[in-house]
Amino acid sequence: MTAPGGAGRLDGAGGTGAEGAASAEIGVRTACPYCGVGCGVIASPDGKGGAAIRGDKDHPANYGRLCSKGSALGETIDMADRLLTPKVGGRDASWDAAIGLVAEKFQAAIRDHGPDSVAFYVSGQLLTEDYYVANKLMKGWIGSGNIDTNSRLCMASSVAGMKRAFGADSVPQAYEDLEETDLLVLVGSNLAWAHPVLYQRVIAAKAARPGMKVITIDPRRTASSDLADLHLPIRPGSDVALWNAVLSQVIEQGAVDAAYVAAHVDGFAEAAAEVRGTTAANAAAACGLDAADVETFINLWVRTEKVVTIWSQGVNQSSAGTDKVNAIINCHLATGRIGKPGSGPFSVTGQPNAMGGREVGGLANMLAAHLDIENAAHREAVQGFWASPAIPTKPGLKAVDLFEACRSGKIKALWIMSTNPAVSLPDADGVREAIAACDFVAVSDIIETTDTTRLADVLLPATGWGEKSGTVTNSDRTISRQRPFLPAPGKARADWKIICDVAQAMGFDGFDFEDEAAVYREHAALSGVAGKLGRDFDISDHAGLSREGYDGMAPFRWPLAGPRKGGRFFADGKFFTPSGKGRMLALELREPAQQLTAARPLRLNTGRARDHWHTMTRTAKSPRLSQHMGEPWLEVHPEDAAACGLKPADLAEVSSDRGTSILRVLVTDKTRPGVLFAPMHWTGEYAPTGRVCALPEPVVDPVSGQPELKSAAVSARRFRAAWHGFAAARGEFRPKTAYWSRARTKTGWRAELAHDAAPADWENFARDLFGLPHAATACVIDAARGIARVALLVEDRVAAVLFAAPEPVQVARGHVVAALDGDGPALPLLAGRPGADMPDPGAIVCACFDVGVNTILAAIAGQGLTSVEAVGDVLRAGTNCGSCRPEIRAILDGAIAARKEAAE
Ligand code: SF4
Repeated sequence: MTAPGGAGRLDGAGGTGAEGAASAEIGVRTACPYCGVGCGVIASPDGKGGAAIRGDKDHPANYGRLCSKGSALGETIDMADRLLTPKVGGRDASWDAAIGLVAEKFQAAIRDHGPDSVAFYVSGQLLTEDYYVANKLMKGWIGSGNIDTNSRLCMASSVAGMKRAFGADSVPQAYEDLEETDLLVLVGSNLAWAHPVLYQRVIAAKAARPGMKVITIDPRRTASSDLADLHLPIRPGSDVALWNAVLSQVIEQGAVDAAYVAAHVDGFAEAAAEVRGTTAANAAAACGLDAADVETFINLWVRTEKVVTIWSQGVNQSSAGTDKVNAIINCHLATGRIGKPGSGPFSVTGQPNAMGGREVGGLANMLAAHLDIENAAHREAVQGFWASPAIPTKPGLKAVDLFEACRSGKIKALWIMSTNPAVSLPDADGVREAIAACDFVAVSDIIETTDTTRLADVLLPATGWGEKSGTVTNSDRTISRQRPFLPAPGKARADWKIICDVAQAMGFDGFDFEDEAAVYREHAALSGVAGKLGRDFDISDHAGLSREGYDGMAPFRWPLAGPRKGGRFFADGKFFTPSGKGRMLALELREPAQQLTAARPLRLNTGRARDHWHTMTRTAKSPRLSQHMGEPWLEVHPEDAAACGLKPADLAEVSSDRGTSILRVLVTDKTRPGVLFAPMHWTGEYAPTGRVCALPEPVVDPVSGQPELKSAAVSARRFRAAWHGFAAARGEFRPKTAYWSRARTKTGWRAELAHDAAPADWENFARDLFGLPHAATACVIDAARGIARVALLVEDRVAAVLFAAPEPVQVARGHVVAALDGDGPALPLLAGRPGADMPDPGAIVCACFDVGVNTILAAIAGQGLTSVEAVGDVLRAGTNCGSCRPEIRAILDGAIAARKEAAE
């Protein structure tokens, strides 16, 4: 493994190669491990295990920008909760023992039940080199297709849609197209929160060219709609009807590129016949939209030459996800608006290396290098290249089926790498049971206590971001190096190395790689084999890359050679289908698989929070990131809130036929009537009743196998608690109440609580809650009103504090936490509010500069501020990553409206 830093280090003394020469700053160039934007990061280790983080001005994904999550990376690399040694049956073990047991269990299952009795479930968090050897082991040596990935939950419908239309999984566009376009349409994509740096690029482009139009299509008016000229709050699942109307009007209004279609597109006549006569009014009725708005959108789309349609999980996570993707691509193919500067269809991935996983065949239905498992010539080419003993002739089990096979006993040995399926898959409680039911489960992870690691027979400690070395591919096909700048802690090993160690323990050759650079070279060489078979993914120019060349590798967009080098696909009309033409499809609207009923009358949409990532194993380590939304919430339209008896700040019990979640109510008209929204991040570690993926049925798109995570049929009602509480402590505590949600603070933890019965003795309850049985107390208890405020004192210092009341408690949480972090006396703290000399900043809006809503409101009122920029000038809020700018605008709009109302 490279020494931490290695090449790519910027040492001010020349560094290495072009990258080192590009800057005199000190640090190591690497890539952010979160979303599919794939921002370049410069990490400057502090020598004490931490690092200062800044954006890499030379990286083509972000040009120096970072979002709140990327900016806080340095706060997430501590050793808290790290898995530092292998464990067998919960006890520390040697690597030899752990590897030997994994190899033995997999060998036994294969011997007794065949290769399809074992499975790997891997992750878009893995580096490409890790992914490559995992796929090689499962497909080439074990001989099964049973390797699938959490990318199945993210972009499988885009892969399937692009394969149907283009013949290969080729994203045609590049990030600069978002800036060069005249019309940007965001479909099921909250770019502002899910891909914040791309959103910042769009903000800057629109500011520079105000004529550029942005339209958002989403059941929710999200932070991204802040920038939009038009928002269409589409009925969940009805996208195909809308895009069929666009295609119909493309044809009606003469916008078809007849020459391009004639020369390069199959299926036009069938698709045209399907949509003939479809109008904006038809689409508006099918999609639950205003007809005039739909007409405006369609006319703009049809009449704008440079149009980019970008989509994400709102399209993909659907039982008709692949059809939705193809309905969008149909419109681009018919107009020839594809693969051109500022014009084309663009899928943005959620995961940092979903694309790298696709490139090495990390999905159960793919071979490496974008080759097809169903194609005998492709199988032969891969097997021949590897000189492997086996190659599967059929796809393996996709994620949902894979865990069903664990439950049914078909899978006897399962290895989960770098992901948390007990939280993230639909019917998450059922998946937890399925993993528990599997005969043998190994989990590689960096964190010891996740919902999934708790179910493992063997735990394998992996290196994490900042320690590992390899490559990742972002959403626009740019491959970047992730470089280490910290030593591997404890006994942690790189994932690729753990996989190779197990392969060798199973007696397999082909896994004696010297280092990750050798894995990359083999991956690059295999892509050359694919290139010769006419496939899109070819980086074979790197097959002979030296270690130094690998370490100094600058970001590049594939393909690496040929006429399309670093550019776009398909403007030239050359596709990867057997006919060499793009394919349009005749598509009909299919409704979400889960029907609404009188008992389950609401749709539950799920998605991301601004400052958290996936199942929070990293972002929840940062107190700063936990300030924005401290607990899982439920967005409810006012009409639904009234119908369900829900008030703001209530707790709501949301139930489906699979499970129940308890979530904090946010009444808002940003979501459609009939559609609820909840974030997907919270886990058993942070809010056991906030695991919203427990609610959706495990139904999938029939083509892609991607689960329908955004359309659960649910009901909602008020969670009737005997008391609600807020608690904070200098140390860690884990409540046992019916509802709890906890988050880290600078010195400990904070929690929201609710329970169905009040304790007999609040002081003892507090001692038990915080695990401080001998603490002295200072209390204010009003038994008649059900109010209790208890401070626990250890050595005359407040160690923990609990506020309880029959309704959600009204205390200034930021103040309480800040006071606890300091050395304040107990009784003023029990007031739950700051004194007049200490203003309460309120809930944090700007995580970068710790600016709260009350501070912003005070500045608006006191200084007459009227713009987001003015707020930024005065408070710095919104001037770093910009992710909070939509919220600042909403606060401004509300304050200005209130001021006007008061004046009238
Ligand atoms: Fe990381 Fe934010 Fe960039 Fe995504 S947008 S890669 S989370 S810094």
